[in-house]
Formats: sequence, structure tokens, C-alpha cells
Amino acid sequence: MTMREPGDQEVYHHGQGVSPGVAYGPAYVIVPDALRAPRREIAPSDIDGELERFESALAATRADILRVKAVLEHADKSDEAEIFDSHLLILEDESLLESVRTTIRNDRVNAEHAFSTRVLDAVDRIENSQSSYLRERVRDIRDVEHRVVRVLLGQREPAVGDLLQNAILVAHDLSATLTAELDRDRILGFATELGAATSHTAILARALEIPAVVDLGPIIHRLSHGESVVLDGREGLLIQNPAPDTLAEYERIKAKIERKRAEWVSLAGVPGRTLDGEPLTLLANIEFNREVDAALAFGCDGIGLYRTEYLFLQSGGDVPEPVQLEVYRGIVRRMDGRPVTVRTLDLGGDKLLAGMEGEENPFLGWRAVRYCLDRPEVFLGQLRAILRAGAEGPVAIMIPMITTMEEVDAVLDLVGSARESLRSEGLAHAESCPVGVLVETPAAALMAERLAQRFDFLSLGTNDLVQYTLAVDRGNRRIAHLYQPFHPAVLRLIREVVDAAEAAGKPVNVCGEMGSNARAAALLLGMGVRSFSMVPARIPRIKQILGRVTVEEAAEVAREALEQRDSDSVKAIVDRHFGERFHHAATR
Ligand code: PEP
Ligand code: MG
Repeated sequence: MTMREPGDQEVYHHGQGVSPGVAYGPAYVIVPDALRAPRREIAPSDIDGELERFESALAATRADILRVKAVLEHADKSDEAEIFDSHLLILEDESLLESVRTTIRNDRVNAEHAFSTRVLDAVDRIENSQSSYLRERVRDIRDVEHRVVRVLLGQREPAVGDLLQNAILVAHDLSATLTAELDRDRILGFATELGAATSHTAILARALEIPAVVDLGPIIHRLSHGESVVLDGREGLLIQNPAPDTLAEYERIKAKIERKRAEWVSLAGVPGRTLDGEPLTLLANIEFNREVDAALAFGCDGIGLYRTEYLFLQSGGDVPEPVQLEVYRGIVRRMDGRPVTVRTLDLGGDKLLAGMEGEENPFLGWRAVRYCLDRPEVFLGQLRAILRAGAEGPVAIMIPMITTMEEVDAVLDLVGSARESLRSEGLAHAESCPVGVLVETPAAALMAERLAQRFDFLSLGTNDLVQYTLAVDRGNRRIAHLYQPFHPAVLRLIREVVDAAEAAGKPVNVCGEMGSNARAAALLLGMGVRSFSMVPARIPRIKQILGRVTVEEAAEVAREALEQRDSDSVKAIVDRHFGERFHHAATR
């Protein structure tokens, strides 16, 4: 970490805290591609000089990689050191290097731009290839490209020590795909210039209990690699060059947060009940099997949403049925008789596999069940793996992004085929496996009555329901103020869904972020919801909040809220009734 010099100023950058917790350490700054290697025309007389600059950057990068490799070997990390062999090979790829030289000569452009462009061409070709081995090389190629461009731009490479130790990632933006790929053992937290609270990236940060601050505006160029920073995910702060007093204060805050977490964990065994004794079910949302421990530690009654697409994103492509089976089965076993609801692939939108890029409106595009129905072999493989995992304990299947009854017919047919094939192959599978629908589009909410006749349960995906009802991209910081879960239009749709489920005698649950918000949870209770699924760390707090409310009071507040004209007056109604009792409980 860069040492603080006397006279260095601490600088506060304000953003939006989307995952509570605090962290401090060196910044690891990722500069976005477009900003990194701007195109610059060069005069014909400068071509030779530019070619020389390129050759010496290659040599410097090579020396740098050899140095990192030696340090890793010295630190007994020979597996990690081996990765650098493939980096060295890329630097020796004559066809790539020759194409860069040709671009410098013929297009008369600067070396960093020429190198970056030719590398991106290579990456495109590889990403479209069928070979998963080659696709895995993409990360190596990009790493090498970053190094060479950084040398050409005269930027300091992060010190070897920084790469080995924990760091706070600072980026322009982080896609959910990239976040899923991060080496979380080395990431203490992240800060981004863009981003919003309900994006999948923010959800992942909360799930993994990594502090995160988004929407910081332009900061990347004001920070350098290795510079000391504090990240405060509760207050939405990134503090550059923290003074010793600030660091000491954050030590105390960190210890307090850890004590609070332990306190919540110690209450895990307390059953969920309203003040008047109505039983509640509190389930966990997970993305990775490593979250199961936290879900159990925080006292979940089961898994209400397992976002399986991250398994695919992490592997960079299709995951064979036996591999899926192992992962799902592992989770079911560890849940030890508690139900596990597995959501089928919700790829698309901001969760893209290689080859999925290129849509103009990805959230309105080839996403979730649409992708699955176009890839029946992939879908069937997943359905079979879930059903087979169900031989070990209770599982349910949940289908995302349903908008039409034709999709419902097709999905249920395929579930039937999956069961049939397992039966005829004599493979053990779930005797009974409820199939539910994620209600997350206005179309599904308005058709809830019909959906309730076809599915075994309904689950409200409020993150997307808000986005699609209000036509507000959930990841767009510019219009984040319009992303209003308390908008009466959203509440009315939710009420329709809860009423439809109740009329059909089918269970209904909420697995969107609204369920983990204190005010929203109280309203949902008042509308008839008794089952809530959320990021594990929020379970104890929501249990505590709902334990301070009676069903009748909540119903009265919900009735009043539904009559309001806007989101602020809805929140005011909840606060007027419960403000005192929710005291100290975050109303995020
Ligand atoms: C939702 O949309 O509310 C939901 C639970 O799914 P996701 O956040 O994964 O889109
Ligand atoms: Mg969704």
C-alpha cells in the first residue's frame, strides 16, 4: 500500500452505499477499456519511434511478468506463478504482434490503441469459438493487454505485494458477470463510478457481505493503484488517503459491525412470528453454494431463491448435468431437510455468457425463460439436475420472467419430459417437486389468477417488477430516483398477485429486495404475505421488525398505503404508524 506522506490530504468521495460494512486497504483501480487506450494519429515520421515504443513496452512487460512470477514462486505459490507462463506466451505470439506493427504502420495510430484493438479482435474471435479452453484464455489475454497498455501510458503497475494482498476494487462499473468472476478472497470491497442499489452487482455484494459503494461519479483518475482508501458501505463513502484518526475510527466501527453480526447470529434460532403470534417463514436468497453457511448461520427456514445462472457465469459456458447435480445436491444436503427453491437460468439482461452480447435492450431481450425455451437441451439438463437433487431432500423449481401462457405451456411440458426421461432411465429423483412462477413482469402480475391455476406457488420478484412496471432500468444511476418500490402502481400489482394466490389457495412469497426492506416488509405483511426470502444477513433484522407488528395493524397500514398518490406519501404512512417501533432498524 502506498504510504501516506505528511501533508497528504484525506479526500471524501460520496456515492451510494449498497452493501453495508466497512473496509480499508489499498485501492486496485481498473480503468475502463474506452478510456485506457485513446486513438491518436501519428505523423509518418513518427512511425519508427512508435514501433520502438511498442517493442520496449513488450520488453518491459515481459520483465515485469517475470518479476511477479519470481515473487510468487518465492512465496510458494507455484500454481499462481504458472498462470504467468501463458501470459508470456501471449507476449510471444508473433501473428498478434505483427498485426499490431502493421496497424501502427498502415493506420498511423499510436501503439496502445493499435495493440488494444488487435487484442480485442482476437478476444472476439475466441469468445465466439466453441472451445471452452480457448474461452478461458480470454482472461489471460486481457490481463496481458492491460499490462502492456499501462506500460505504454506510463502508468504504474500495481505493486506485486498489492496483487497478493487484499484490496478494494475501484472501477468505472462492474457487470454482474465480472463480479461473479472476481476472486472474492482478495477483494475487500468495491467502489464504482456508476451503479444502482438493485442491480445484480449490488445484490451480489450484499449476498457475499462485501462492502460496496456505487454511483461515485468520476473518481478513477483521481486515485492511483495501491493508494490507501477506506470504503464505508453504510454511509456510501470512499475516503482517499485516510488520516490515522480516521483509520482508528474505522477500526472501531468494523469491530462494532462484527459484534452486531455475532449478535444476530446468536438469535438465529428464534422463530419468525408477528407481534400477535402469526408464524412467518424467512428464507434465504443465494447465488453461490458458499453462501449456504451464512444462510444457516442467520437462521433461514430454507432457500427461497437460488440464482443458478452464476454457476454458468463462473464456468463461462454450459454446465454439464452431472456437474449441476453435484452442486445442487450439495446444497440440498447441507440444508438438511429445509426446502430449496432453485430458480432456472436467468441469463441475459446484465448476466451474459460469451456470445450473448449485442442486444440493444438486453433487459427486454433474450433473457431467462426465453433463453431456456430456445435452448431446450440446456433447459432440460438443468430441470433434470434439479429433479435429481430432489432425491436428497425437498426442492422446488421456479421459472423466471414469464410473460405469456404459451411459455407456461412449454415450460410445464418440458418439466414433464424431464421427469419422464428420469423415470425411464431409472434415475432417482424428487417424488414431488413443486413448480412455481416468479412474478416479475406486469403481464405476469395481471395474469396471476391464471398463473396460480397452473403453478404450485407464486413468488414476487419485485426487483424486476419495479423495473418493468415503472420502465426504469434497475442499474441506471441517472434515473435511480425513479426506481420506486413504494410507487402505488407497484403496490397495486403486488396486491393483485397476493389476492390471486390466496383465492387459488396457493402459497405466495416475496424474493425481491423489497422483502428485506423494513418498511416494505411491513406493507407486504399487511397485504397478506407470510413468507419472505432475502439476502441471508437481513433475515434476523426483518424477523425482529415483523415481530414488532400485528397483522391487523399491518393490514390497516397497507390499506391506507394503497390509497396514496406517490411513493413518498406511502413511506410517510408506514413511518407514522411504525416509525417508533422500527427505531434503529435500517429502513433501507
Ligand atoms: C427479482 O427480479 O426480484 C428477482 C428476485 O430476480 P433477480 O433480482 O435475480 O432479477
Ligand atoms: Mg428478476
